[in-house]
Amino acid sequence: MRKIALLTSGGDAPGMNAAVRSVVRTAICQGLETVGALKGYQGLVNADFIPLQLRSVSNIINRGGTILKTARCAEFFEKEGRKKANEHLKKNKIDGLIVIGGNGSFCGAHLLALEHNFPVIGVPGTIDNDIAGTDFSIGSDTAVNTALEAIDKIRDTVSSMERIFVVEVMGRKEGYIALRVGLAGGAEDVLIPQTEYDIERMCEDISKGRKRGKVSWIIVVSEGVAGSKDVASLIEELTGFETRSITLGHIQRGGSPTAIDRILASRLGAEAVKALLAGERDKMVGMTGETIKLIDFSSACAQGREKRNKLDKEIYGLIRVLAT
Ligand code: ATP
Repeated sequence: MRKIALLTSGGDAPGMNAAVRSVVRTAICQGLETVGALKGYQGLVNADFIPLQLRSVSNIINRGGTILKTARCAEFFEKEGRKKANEHLKKNKIDGLIVIGGNGSFCGAHLLALEHNFPVIGVPGTIDNDIAGTDFSIGSDTAVNTALEAIDKIRDTVSSMERIFVVEVMGRKEGYIALRVGLAGGAEDVLIPQTEYDIERMCEDISKGRKRGKVSWIIVVSEGVAGSKDVASLIEELTGFETRSITLGHIQRGGSPTAIDRILASRLGAEAVKALLAGERDKMVGMTGETIKLIDFSSACAQGREKRNKLDKEIYGLIRVLAT
């Protein structure tokens, strides 16, 4: 193996740059020529490659977003698009590919590896932390901390004005951010896709709490459940208490990555290069506890929800107990 390409795909996540830096510098130290494909799979389909040298990745470890840009690429869903990508990789004498991205990006990488026998290794990078086979994905710790900072600020208003606040956080179908932020931010309740939620029960709890003298509530809702506005109006209708809503939105994807995300990105990026050099393909590097592991793309493409159910239920139960 002489030359590799790397790309970032799907939603941007804080720490992707740290992973890019780690891949580039590890690869160069191992004597590999390294190029970046711009805007995810679009860069492969359009043959949009840039050379990456040691200095190309200077001063990016602390930056959010991705210097390689990212995109959703419709053409890559099609066989023809992946064929084009393979041709461009071959034409540019690229022997291996590293994809930093989420679940969808790995499904695409798996198909490229299968259909064209091309060596691809994935690095999990998504704030949603919804990839099976890895406990952590790059960006989710930063996203949790960003949402937490916002909730701490909202709490100042909630307690001063004696209100109910519904805070919508990102996380698609997983609810990872909502659960962690709910526990760390002392939320009274969380609405997440992985547990049955019952707004009427929650409103009864609010009314009972009011009778006990409780005056403020923070309810965290995951975007995969419902919009914060709808939940707030329902609570107001059922309890008669003034309820406000806020959607934290894209601020959760931005900002400087936490130390945890930078360390994860640096470790996984380096390991991805080593895996390619060791002849591995069609796999993702992931973490179980503190241990780095290789996981087949076919398993990584499955949603990770079932595997986390036990821990999620435990955290959910704790939030409810601590909220009383
Ligand atoms: P995030 O979790 O942050 O959204 P993601 O990697 O899951 O990241 P997606 O939008 O699902 O983001 O996928 C990114 C890109 O990967 C898509 O635009 C497409 O180019 C490719 N891709 C996704 N799913 C497939 C698939 N089933 N087959 C081929 N390519 C795919």
